[in-house]
Amino acid sequence: MAEPPTGGDLRLPGRLRAPQPGWTAQADVIVVGSGIAGLTTALRLRRRVDRVLLVTKTVLSEGSTEWAQGGIAAALDPADSPQDHLHDTLVAGVGLCDVDAVRALVTEGPARVGELVALGAEFDRGADGGIKLTREGGHHRDRIAHAGGDATGREISRALIAALRQVQDDPGIEVVEHALVVDLLLDASGRVCGVTLHVIGEGQRDGVGAARARAVVLATGGLGQVYGATTNPSVATGDGLAAALRAGAEVADVEFVQFHPTVLWLGAGSRGQQPLISEAVRGEGAFLVDRDGVRFMHGRHPLADLAPRDVVARAIVEQMRATGEDHVYLDARHLGAAFLEQRFPSIVGRCRELGLDPATTLLPVVPAQHYASGGVRTDLHGRTSVEGLYACGEVSCTGVHGANRLASNSLLEGLVFARRIADDVAARLGAGELPPVPPGRAGRPSGEAALLAASDRGLVQAAMTAGAGAVRTAESLERTRSALDELAERSLSPDVAEPDPQAWETTNLLHVGQVLAHLAGRREETRGGHVRDDFPGQDPAWRGNQRAVRGPDGRVTTTFHLVPEQDLT
Ligand SMILES: Cc1cc2nc3c(=O)[nH]c(=O)nc-3n(C[C@H](O)[C@H](O)[C@H](O)COP(=O)(O)OP(=O)(O)OC[C@H]3O[C@@H](n4cnc5c(N)ncnc54)[C@H](O)[C@@H]3O)c2cc1C
Repeated sequence: MAEPPTGGDLRLPGRLRAPQPGWTAQADVIVVGSGIAGLTTALRLRRRVDRVLLVTKTVLSEGSTEWAQGGIAAALDPADSPQDHLHDTLVAGVGLCDVDAVRALVTEGPARVGELVALGAEFDRGADGGIKLTREGGHHRDRIAHAGGDATGREISRALIAALRQVQDDPGIEVVEHALVVDLLLDASGRVCGVTLHVIGEGQRDGVGAARARAVVLATGGLGQVYGATTNPSVATGDGLAAALRAGAEVADVEFVQFHPTVLWLGAGSRGQQPLISEAVRGEGAFLVDRDGVRFMHGRHPLADLAPRDVVARAIVEQMRATGEDHVYLDARHLGAAFLEQRFPSIVGRCRELGLDPATTLLPVVPAQHYASGGVRTDLHGRTSVEGLYACGEVSCTGVHGANRLASNSLLEGLVFARRIADDVAARLGAGELPPVPPGRAGRPSGEAALLAASDRGLVQAAMTAGAGAVRTAESLERTRSALDELAERSLSPDVAEPDPQAWETTNLLHVGQVLAHLAGRREETRGGHVRDDFPGQDPAWRGNQRAVRGPDGRVTTTFHLVPEQDLT
């Protein structure tokens, strides 16, 4: 692959500026994050290793899992098969998925969903008592199980947290809320052996401390807050991805960001987490129209309004350009109030709070950041390129999503790979692998970062939204990169920000944004979640994954890995 025209070195620091740890804690395994990935990993690890420490940035329920609406995909219908699910996933991933990872996802998925039901998660059921299944964009079968109509994530999160509460007195598992992981600890051989974390607690564990463990599982979720408008909650600041990068772990496919086509448009300049109108609403028959009431998805894709998300998002952007409007509309009126209220109670409730009734009004919608398809690269057991470090859920790049995630595959990925990780960690610890690090031997990677002030967060988000958003060009990406480089420079000025959670999060957003823009600038084609106006076509020479890794000197090196051709017909 030729060198990209957007040259320039990318350098990242080895760690964030933070006070010396004032306290220490010890565990066998540290799990960071309490979404579907972290909770499932911790519950499966309990009793299989002596001591699990689960830490989470705010409260257990906060994270994208809680917000998931549409459902969880699995071939549960007798008319469906893992093979069909595999095929739809590969098509959505536009040739860049790892087939073995997808095979693991779709074949193990139905059993994992069954275990979730056994744990207490209550999915919506039909008159025959079976789990109701619906369809979402990119799926050729009804295979999306949902709960509470459109509150699937809330129910899954409730069930997992309830299971955790039942065992919270078990000395084998400790849960610490309001604990923000700042960076990873490495031993002299470069193996991960713990984390530094900031705890807002009362008593001994207050402020920055060091928790040591034989293995660390990052389950920190997405990076949505790197953009001005996202469906992701405020905790999604890419902390795990940034910490893994700084520690020298390989990341992959980070340029592939999914922009959800139908996020409620709340007016120009709306910032932060925006209300999502689930794809399942289109799955039940709603469709997109422009300001003149014209349906514009017909003729663009055989699945029309249910085409994969990148296709729909791009069509909306093009339609907005053609009409000069800053949004389009979703028409769900024909579904009727009774059906909408019963099937989508949360969405209808939220819309009505905002003065919009989907039963009588067209809903203004626009694409917004929704999902990070790439992340910290792992193998089929969730192992990253750094010994002792695992990644699970949205922070990871297992290879199941390729250039674009198929709807409702992410909750499933968290479930399936959490179990694989827990089994791998337990087996390795049982076999005496990953020995504990003697006290005093853990170090922090060299090259400390000055911090960006919390007040600079809007500047990072503005630069990313303007140049590295749903539609990109070489020029827009270059502008983003220089704006971020300037911010990185600014953080070195004498009045640098003091270390605190907001400054750490803002600096994480900067590091994630820098890598994302760097990789997006290199990929001169349009594929999946990476849409280039200046390279509108798919280029077979780019049928591969980009990986990036920070070396000991701070320089980020990028490599390209061709993926064998797949049958996507
Ligand atoms: C509005 C919305 C709707 C969605 N709908 C669906 C859907 O229908 N189906 C589907 O499959 N997917 C859906 N998704 C995507 C899916 O919800 C997520 O990809 C998935 O829940 C991610 O799970 P996770 O466990 O990896 O991360 P999360 O659930 O985001 O959890 C991450 C955890 O890490 C913690 N954390 C973060 N940083 C730190 C730190 N520095 N220190 C300590 N803890 C930290 C967070 O507080 C949180 O507890 C949706 C997402 C959104 C936002």
